[in-house]
Amino acid sequence: MSTPPTVHDEVVTFCRDLIRFDTSNFGPDGAAGEREATEYVAAQLDEVGISSTILESAPRRANLVAHWEPEGCDRSLPPLLIHGHTDVVPAVAADWQVDPFAGEIRDGYLWGRGAVDMKDFDAIILATIRERVRSGRATRRPIRLVFTADEEAGGRFGSGWLGAHHPDLVADCSEAIGEVGGFSLTLNQRRLYLIQTAEKGIAWLNLIAGGTAGHGSMRNSDNPVTNLAAAVARIGNYRWPVRIRPAQQQFLEAVESALGVPISADTAEESLARLGSIARMVGATMSNTANPTMLQAGYKVNVIPGAATAGVDGRFIPGFEDEFYATITELLGDKVRYEVATGDIAVETGFEGDLVAAMTSALQAEDPEAVTVPFMMSGGTDAKAWSKLGVRCFGFAPLRLPPELDFVSLFHGVDERVPIESLEFGCRVLDRFLDEA
Ligand SMILES: [Zn+2]
Repeated sequence: MSTPPTVHDEVVTFCRDLIRFDTSNFGPDGAAGEREATEYVAAQLDEVGISSTILESAPRRANLVAHWEPEGCDRSLPPLLIHGHTDVVPAVAADWQVDPFAGEIRDGYLWGRGAVDMKDFDAIILATIRERVRSGRATRRPIRLVFTADEEAGGRFGSGWLGAHHPDLVADCSEAIGEVGGFSLTLNQRRLYLIQTAEKGIAWLNLIAGGTAGHGSMRNSDNPVTNLAAAVARIGNYRWPVRIRPAQQQFLEAVESALGVPISADTAEESLARLGSIARMVGATMSNTANPTMLQAGYKVNVIPGAATAGVDGRFIPGFEDEFYATITELLGDKVRYEVATGDIAVETGFEGDLVAAMTSALQAEDPEAVTVPFMMSGGTDAKAWSKLGVRCFGFAPLRLPPELDFVSLFHGVDERVPIESLEFGCRVLDRFLDEA
């Protein structure tokens, strides 16, 4: 007879195995290994008697949904959605100290693309749930498990597709946990655990400048290149007004209290500089942003083209979408117009209620000094798709991290890695959380 695996063995094995499926998402060209990774997830669930369905939004773009209603859970309650994505952003192996798809263990860390975004939490979910099934411990309420494709390219073949084509698979859930949050940030020996309660909306814009084409040697007061360049400069140089939502307010107060210094919203980014890369993320959630990222015009140096185009990555604070577009329109002037290439909602929920209490007590049971704090993310996640179906979304993928680790920079970063101990911690916290959630 072989001894059953422990949750700690399994979380490391699952995370390493998932990293070894190269699920790099190259956008429209797809993600090669999503199908295999999803089948792997299905097999781990199946082995403990949880059946799942794999739905493909396009060939090999696989999404998995499982209804887990363990004996003893209260079926009158709405399910809790627990979600993860299987795709990752690409990695340039030459920049790394290790092969990004080998799942190497070194110095107490598991290394590889996806180690923190987010094969770590995928593995924590699988290991924790399998352990609960083996030991026959029910959750408080039914659990809906969703593993998606394509999160890293906006979710068109993943959460967005599921939400549009199979809304019934998620819409009965009242609340959700997934990325990005639940990790610790150590300030002055105080451990803040950042719970994501909000994320900015997306406004990726194409700017189009019309004008009068002509010979480059002639005078031209309606040159589209000139018109576009002026508008791009106005947008790039614009200082967006500070807009503080409750999540940032509470976050700033917690940081003030930990550091013992006042932090003003206007200078938060500078004041938080000592926090490392998290300062950039927090700074970006103090206002709308719009960064010009692409420029295109012309085909010959002595020909004035008839049009010129630019790309702008815009992000807006919850509640300030109208202000964002009104400001862009004003900055563009009358010679340049915009089209929304990709737009998506901002997400926001309050940091209160039973689920938040369950997160806090689960963290504090494993780390008595844990202080939970809400925060807003500057990027987007699958939470956008679930929010549209009325699900309250939280970023809660618990990890206790070493104080010196610059965690935020590992997201999409070189040498992405996760401490083995943090994976084990995540399983213990998720397990406790499921008792109460
Ligand atoms: Zn992610």
